[in-house]
Amino acid sequence: MSFTIAIVGRPNVGKSTLFNRLVGRKLALVDDTPGVTRDRRVHEARLYDLRFQVIDTAGFEDVSDESLEGRMRQQTERAIADCDLVLFMIDAKAGITPNDGAFAQVARRSGKPIVLVANKAEARGAETGLHEAWGLGLGEPVPFSAEHGQGLPDLREAIIAALGEDRAFGPDEEEAAAAEAEIALVGDDVSDPDEDEVPAYDATKPMRIAIVGRPNAGKSTLINALIGEERLLTGPEAGITRDSISVDWQWRGRKMRLFDTAGMRRKSRVQEKLEKLSVADGLRAIRFAEVVIVVFDATIPFEKQDLQIADLIAREGRAPVLAFNKWDLIDDPQELLAELREKTDRLLPQVRGLRAVPVSAETGRGLDKLMQAVADTHEVWNRRISTGRLNRWLEGVLAHHPPPAVAGRRLKIKYLTQVKARPPGFVVSCSRPDAMPQSYVRYLVNGLRDSFDMPGVPIRVMLRAPE
Ligand code: GDP
Ligand code: GDP
Repeated sequence: MSFTIAIVGRPNVGKSTLFNRLVGRKLALVDDTPGVTRDRRVHEARLYDLRFQVIDTAGFEDVSDESLEGRMRQQTERAIADCDLVLFMIDAKAGITPNDGAFAQVARRSGKPIVLVANKAEARGAETGLHEAWGLGLGEPVPFSAEHGQGLPDLREAIIAALGEDRAFGPDEEEAAAAEAEIALVGDDVSDPDEDEVPAYDATKPMRIAIVGRPNAGKSTLINALIGEERLLTGPEAGITRDSISVDWQWRGRKMRLFDTAGMRRKSRVQEKLEKLSVADGLRAIRFAEVVIVVFDATIPFEKQDLQIADLIAREGRAPVLAFNKWDLIDDPQELLAELREKTDRLLPQVRGLRAVPVSAETGRGLDKLMQAVADTHEVWNRRISTGRLNRWLEGVLAHHPPPAVAGRRLKIKYLTQVKARPPGFVVSCSRPDAMPQSYVRYLVNGLRDSFDMPGVPIRVMLRAPE
């Protein structure tokens, strides 16, 4: 399922310290004496949203005839053979030793992906060691401090880069969730398919869409218009079954999958259910979707409670797109559109800039713009911003608008990193997370939204104290 990391390096570079940090418990002994007795341990570990196993290689408890070094190397080789990724650690404070070179050779020969970690980088004089580390031929060293927990976001990025996103985030959990969904929709037991750990964006997979809205808003008409159009292009053999719980089609060559909504069912059944149908069906569809189109009848004025569904979509971590339907019946379209957009932005600040598109499901006008809005929103929802860019941005923010002082002490922000996408989620490492005012968190969210152009999707910011 997940992957396995071997932490490799000569004694005393800080392997156990990192191991403890990743595993989150004081499992391995940490000792200043090189070669202190330890077992080789494998343990469940996590680094932000990455989950994996770690092998601690610093074990050579057997007293054998072999030299310590020989025994260590054997352990290391075994760990490397068992792992998917080698985390090769050096001590930047001490610099590169011949022993590092010997271990590096073993690691390189394995052909496994390697992440080079220059530990103790916070120590004075570590720059030299960091520089020397390049000479190992293992690529760019990640400056790191296992003891102080510095460099964790960069380590995370390096691991993802070395393994590839697909492997780093595990097998296709999304497909699994979809399969589960199909089963769940047949039976009644809907397990919570919360997709916190979804794999990264892959354009070859269908984009998952749900269409929700009040009865009579025009959902069925919209779906027929969207899928029917494509059917003309793909020919009748496409065999679209309206009764199925999901339907695949293409929009401009992009694969789309529409999830169970009442509108897809036979009209008679819909009408039977019309009164009861609502929250349960809507929720189910929302959970399995990435982007949710909320259809409104534009001829009926809407109020705050009509937007609750969009709020719910955002809280579920999905991205809403609004369709103002029956636009063909509107007399003063420009004025109404301005009014509707102002209203939605004001009432839905949590997804500020969300796309609201006037359409006519009946005439087909605006459908292309609607689908473009869906595709754009999906892209933003999947967006990943590098730690480098985020922290350059953060520097500017801190220079112009630092967090306030609380009880006479200034709150300090150390760094910012994106720990997940779908939707974008960020971790702010700061002193005293509990004291950080919500207004400042909102300020950061708004700043991120504007500076990195992320309209219309929920953005999550978590505060963490540096470890
Ligand atoms: P191992 O033999 O590679 O497992 O190394 P340990 O984890 O036992 O660490 C060896 C020594 O280095 C211990 O005294 C740690 O406290 C120290 N150490 C570990 N990480 C750091 C670090 O980031 N900075 C500094 N200055 N010392 C560290
Ligand atoms: P649902 O209950 O949300 O699936 O709504 P339907 O698709 O069944 O549509 C409800 C009514 O609105 C039907 O009489 C449709 O013909 C009509 N309707 C749907 N879309 C439009 C539109 O864009 N313009 C106009 N004028 N009528 C529409």
